[in-house]
Amino acid sequence: MGAARHFSRTYVEARDKFLGATRVCGIAVKTHSLPDLRGADGESLAMDVARLGDAGAPGMLMLWSATHGIEGYCGSGCQTGLLNDDAFIGAAAAAGVAVLFVHAVNPHGFSFGRRVNEDNTDLNRNFREFAAPAPVNAAYAEIHRLLLPATWPPDAADERELGAWIAAHGEPAYQAAVSGGQYAFPDGLFYGGTGPSWSNRTLRSVLRVHAARRMSLGLIDFHTGLGPRGHGEKIFNGANVAADIARARSWWGADVTSFHDGSSTSAPLVGVNYNAVYDECPGVEYAGIALEFGTLPLRATLQALRADHWRHNHPEAPAALATAIRREVREAFYVEADDWKEIVYAQARVAALAGIARLARSMSG
Ligand SMILES: [Zn+2]
Repeated sequence: MGAARHFSRTYVEARDKFLGATRVCGIAVKTHSLPDLRGADGESLAMDVARLGDAGAPGMLMLWSATHGIEGYCGSGCQTGLLNDDAFIGAAAAAGVAVLFVHAVNPHGFSFGRRVNEDNTDLNRNFREFAAPAPVNAAYAEIHRLLLPATWPPDAADERELGAWIAAHGEPAYQAAVSGGQYAFPDGLFYGGTGPSWSNRTLRSVLRVHAARRMSLGLIDFHTGLGPRGHGEKIFNGANVAADIARARSWWGADVTSFHDGSSTSAPLVGVNYNAVYDECPGVEYAGIALEFGTLPLRATLQALRADHWRHNHPEAPAALATAIRREVREAFYVEADDWKEIVYAQARVAALAGIARLARSMSG
């Protein structure tokens, strides 16, 4: 059997497989429980952290899953696959590189099949300096009421008006308006929150313990929902600093894209989780990517997210409609097909091995 077996159908199953793999590897897990809340099946929710290799290793590769909740089906499968991959484990050990697995950065979204967390917050818009004035997304404000109309599916008049907005401004402007992030509509899409979320604070504490004293640090943060089916886009996950972008490209290839220069399928973003690495690990040489795997066309993904937020805002929705929406969202962020899982894992493995090789080289000078 191939790597597809490491992927799961629920958060509970994914967590069991991940924890089981850490036991086989003989590595300890530190569980950070999300307080006061339970999962969709009544289970406890947690960010589980496991480190392979030496606590004092100068170089460390970090692998994060489920920054965007439901996208954790992909990331968890890749993490569990790598823990079961003797060649990967052997390469890390031979290189003297530590590997930090952070399983389910956003366990609540993972369990409930949402991209956002327990506060309807998109974690990758939440890592900002909240003392500063919030960025204003005027385009989102224009279309918020059209994105989340009173009824679902939207009526023809709403869709005509939204279609006219898209026709007038263009598809990239629509993507940027919706997915760029906003701080004015707590019940809306891609909402960044009002302060650091539990996941944000917990991830920062993990970085302080495991990452801050390294010489060199790599990050692969697993995502889904953008790009062609099964294709892994390596999106630079760092600040708009030329040396850092160049470093990521030297590690993972010239095809590393960046939303800072318009080469990525992602819209420009603020509040992304890489800010935590810069804040908590000052002076550490850092190279980071988001590995973003395609599922459905962008328009279908955005439509699924509109439906998800509408359902969340309408607990009175008929059960059949709510179920159909949940299925639509799941299909937008996870492909339940072995061929997709196999090609996803193959690309994740190449990226993880490249990270190990570069960390080994930077250690040897
Ligand atoms: Zn994502």
